[in-house]
Amino acid sequence: IDFGFEQVRTADKQARVKQVFDSVARDYDRMNDAMSLGIHRIWKDMAITKLNPQPGERLLDVAGGTGDIARRFIRAANMVRERRGGAAASAVILDINDEMLLAGIDPVKDAGLDLTRVCANAQRLPFEDGQFDAVTIAYGIRNVTDRMAALREFHRVLKPGGRLGVLEFSTPPEPLIRRFYDAYSFAVIPRLGERIAGDRDSYQYLVESIRRFPKQEQFAQMMREAGFARVDYADYSAGVSAFHTGWKI
Ligand code: SAM
Repeated sequence: IDFGFEQVRTADKQARVKQVFDSVARDYDRMNDAMSLGIHRIWKDMAITKLNPQPGERLLDVAGGTGDIARRFIRAANMVRERRGGAAASAVILDINDEMLLAGIDPVKDAGLDLTRVCANAQRLPFEDGQFDAVTIAYGIRNVTDRMAALREFHRVLKPGGRLGVLEFSTPPEPLIRRFYDAYSFAVIPRLGERIAGDRDSYQYLVESIRRFPKQEQFAQMMREAGFARVDYADYSAGVSAFHTGWKI
């Protein structure tokens, strides 16, 4: 079947990740809402506001899944365009999993938006250097095996002056909130996974992978090591999510 996007390389040690997302792809949006009580939409909106998309910009949304971030980015740039003019913004949605890309194709939501879909691994991006004004990865870096390799790739494909935005579940720094959050995620999320998607194991894996992910300052340091400047982060909902930003200068 010709899916209409480039098949670059999906094989890797990422087999487990692929299996998890194959099994959740169809229920993905519904589960996201249930797990975060709909709050992931607000976190995504906050992240896009911080990125401040501009007319004519080209975004690479890595691990873009069903395309939430890419559409928000283009729409935000279009709102600026209505006031100030300029070219339309565009986005490439890149994901290792073709099922996620397919699940995200939505003729109604995609109408009028300059979107391209590419199936590839974040660790080896099929683009030349300096192609994008912004790179985003939302709830995806946690699943990447070699995160440093991916961060270096994000840096490589950005234009000088371009920015990276990484939205990811994180660790609430306040101990009391952390205890409550741990109890919620370990007790509730696998059960929700079972109820809504009939798949407890995949959601158990998601909870564990969130716990293993580096804390805010550690991840900021990784971004600096990959070459990013002016690295900063904001905690969302007391640190349940964090949005890291950095610039290529
Ligand atoms: N960004 C979307 C959002 O916020 O709704 C989707 C996030 S989803 C939790 C994570 C996505 O990362 C999945 O679609 C998965 O296939 C993709 N992914 C995991 N490892 C990847 C890799 N190494 N390269 C590219 N995509 C990857």
